[in-house]
Amino acid sequence: MNRCTKAIIYKDNLEYNIKQIKNFVGGEVKLCIAVKADSYGHNAVLTSQIAENLGIEYLAVASVGEGVELRQAGIKAHILLLSLCVPEEFNDLFEYELIPLVFSKEYISALSEAADGYFKRQNDKNLKHSVFLAVDTGMGRIGCYPAEAGEEAKLISRSEHLQLGGMITHLCVSDSLSQENQSFTAQQGEEFKKAVENVKHEGINPGILSCGASAGLLNNSDLHFDLVRPGIITYGYYPDEITKEYLQSQKKDFDIKPVLQLESQVVAIRHFPKGKSVSYGRTYECTEDTDIAVLPIGYADGLLRRFSPGLEVTINGKNYPVRGRICMDQCMVDIGKNNKNVKLWDKAVIFGPKETGALNTADDLARIGKTISYEVLTSITKRVLRIVK
Ligand SMILES: *Cc1c(COP(=O)(O)O)cnc(C)c1O
Repeated sequence: MNRCTKAIIYKDNLEYNIKQIKNFVGGEVKLCIAVKADSYGHNAVLTSQIAENLGIEYLAVASVGEGVELRQAGIKAHILLLSLCVPEEFNDLFEYELIPLVFSKEYISALSEAADGYFKRQNDKNLKHSVFLAVDTGMGRIGCYPAEAGEEAKLISRSEHLQLGGMITHLCVSDSLSQENQSFTAQQGEEFKKAVENVKHEGINPGILSCGASAGLLNNSDLHFDLVRPGIITYGYYPDEITKEYLQSQKKDFDIKPVLQLESQVVAIRHFPKGKSVSYGRTYECTEDTDIAVLPIGYADGLLRRFSPGLEVTINGKNYPVRGRICMDQCMVDIGKNNKNVKLWDKAVIFGPKETGALNTADDLARIGKTISYEVLTSITKRVLRIVK
């Protein structure tokens, strides 16, 4: 199959980024690469294979199905499940050796019971399945309160087939540089340490400790603990205010490159007279005679409707504005009258790495769409072919 609307995944850039992250945290700290949401749209199996080849020991997914997909592709690394699942999915956790985050009496009991059943059926009395205790230190999502961590760890350690493999928390404002947010982050670190102490106080080994995702990893090196969980930086984008310029000002040596290039092709060039409207709702009227290039890419590919007006696409090294509403499968680009730079079948780059000729990044699209690079990347749909280069 072939389609001109595709996402090129630059393997070298992915490797480069992972090596940069490894160097940045140093040899003592392990990496858990977030490959959830199909590696933020970059192909989870490919990313996981590259990560494994570079010696990465942990990967993180959000759904059981994502973990199963990796196992079926032969991935051997530890796989953390970052979101909760339901009892119907518990069996797959054991079968495919996925490490769930747990907390709360009900969840741990239900999981423990399922583990007993599973390992009995396997005739394996001695097997222990690793779980990580999630602690809410301020994120306000999943996790127990630090004061409850000791009790929850006891529940896990009493279970016949579960064992506490580690403890995890998630920072919620570590991507901001404001004094207020940085002190909240420091406080989260303190709360996490309290939770760990509570577990130790019960005579239980807390296992591997993990706190920071991309932002915390880059900006809070005092909170690395044993394992950091980079997601977005693996794919070449900085988390909000923790930018390359900021890191340089802190004398920190770090560099990453966008991995994915979203591109399409000019499939028609049409002459539009002054006053002719473009696309649904007639939101744009040509202000003079002009030529309009049609691209077969739309919001069903992940080119969000809210990117227009504002979005410009790159054709042969120059940017041209998208006019009118982006349709489900197509959009229209104003190339100006008699433009010698644009011909039928030319490549149109939506965003990508600078070195391959892209003028926009996912951050530029995010700014136009009032969102973040994460959403721009994960919005690219299945219909867009992923080509590994
Ligand atoms: C998604 C996620 C990450 C990775 O976050 P980035 O900001 O992309 O680095 C790490 N930990 C948890 C719990 C997550 O949900």
